Amino acid sequence: MQQLRKPLAADGLQSLIGADRAALEAVLVELGEAESKSRMRARQLFHWIYCRGARTFDEMTTLSKELRGRLAEQYSVARPQIVVEQKSTDGTRKWLLRFFDGQEVESVFIPQDDRGALCVSTQVGCTLTCKFCHTGTMPLVRNLTPGEILAQLLVARDALGEWPSPREDRLFTNIVVMGMGEPLFNYDGIAAAMKLASDGDGIGLSKHKITLSTSGVVPRIVQWGQELGTGLAISLHAVRDELRDELVPVNRKWPIAELLDACRAYPHRNKPITFEYVMLAGVNDSDADARELVRLLQGIPAKVNLIPFNAWPGAVFECSSNNRIHAFARIVEAAGYQSPVRVPRGRDILAACGQLKTASERIRARRASEAAVAGAPSQEPASVAAALP
Ligand code: SAH
Ligand code: SF4
Repeated sequence: MQQLRKPLAADGLQSLIGADRAALEAVLVELGEAESKSRMRARQLFHWIYCRGARTFDEMTTLSKELRGRLAEQYSVARPQIVVEQKSTDGTRKWLLRFFDGQEVESVFIPQDDRGALCVSTQVGCTLTCKFCHTGTMPLVRNLTPGEILAQLLVARDALGEWPSPREDRLFTNIVVMGMGEPLFNYDGIAAAMKLASDGDGIGLSKHKITLSTSGVVPRIVQWGQELGTGLAISLHAVRDELRDELVPVNRKWPIAELLDACRAYPHRNKPITFEYVMLAGVNDSDADARELVRLLQGIPAKVNLIPFNAWPGAVFECSSNNRIHAFARIVEAAGYQSPVRVPRGRDILAACGQLKTASERIRARRASEAAVAGAPSQEPASVAAALP
């Protein structure tokens, strides 16, 4: 059975966000609810948390007042603190969330015509150090709990006003597990969270609407395919091992051939695997690279997502020119693979992975040092957004 981990919420309370039905039932039994009733009560609690989006036990009017009181003494369904909430002129929304131990992660909602995807984080920072990725430079790393992953979905639903779920007319239709961290190094956390996200009695986003992006943790790709079978995206970025060893160091452990074998074995369910390819000028963007990519993908139902490199302070790469990106795309498309060029979204709100968190930390560090100089206690910025350049 799922174990709730303490402490997850503020004030010494334990968060129930991320708990499955069995865990909720155990909580109710522990609170003295009769075993005969606890299963039904757990279903009601589940419905309030994941379908109605309740933020307090008080709202849960199908539970007795007395039970609500007992729950509130020890447990919580409060959201993490929203440190920054931003909305781009293109509709992209971004949240910097702070958990109860002070650690922060980002999630980004990207609307697109009649649908929208929430990009969720799975770790604080990342243990891997891909050369072009800002998250890989963050020193502090820990896995997010299922509740902390789920909380990102709840915060987005709150902000979009999309409770109860599922609803026909909602904007938040998809999840992309492409935020901070390597999800398959937090396998249990992300698996528990995505099982809950796809539960029809709760958030109700089907597994077809979920895409997990990995840098290539081969043994876990196979397991994920068997257990969850969501859409899959692979951060390929290079077509030769020598270069991929440098750009995506996990390649030293699981090289390209093994990674592509895992992709061939992945249950496709009529959905192609997306291969992500960041366009780095003069590094991985030649016609020869494109031709080799096509050769490697033979036999895999695939789509290639070309991502213009998003520069960050201190990055050693530059983005390929538009002409180069489109020349690359033409070669891939001529071989029969869709090859869209990803349009950068939310540039005005630093929507690229890791950027907002770093900006927040920079500003906090500056304020702390200013405050230390003035002899005053350091203050949290009310809105980092306002202070951003
Ligand atoms: N760790 C997972 C998921 C998070 S990264 C993974 O690596 O797949 C999501 C995607 O953004 C990956 O394809 C990653 O390689 C890409 N990415 C990271 N930094 C980038 C940058 N500065 N510019 C463009 N894409 C980047
Ligand atoms: Fe981690 Fe993905 Fe960034 Fe690599 S690209 S450092 S795996 S978050």
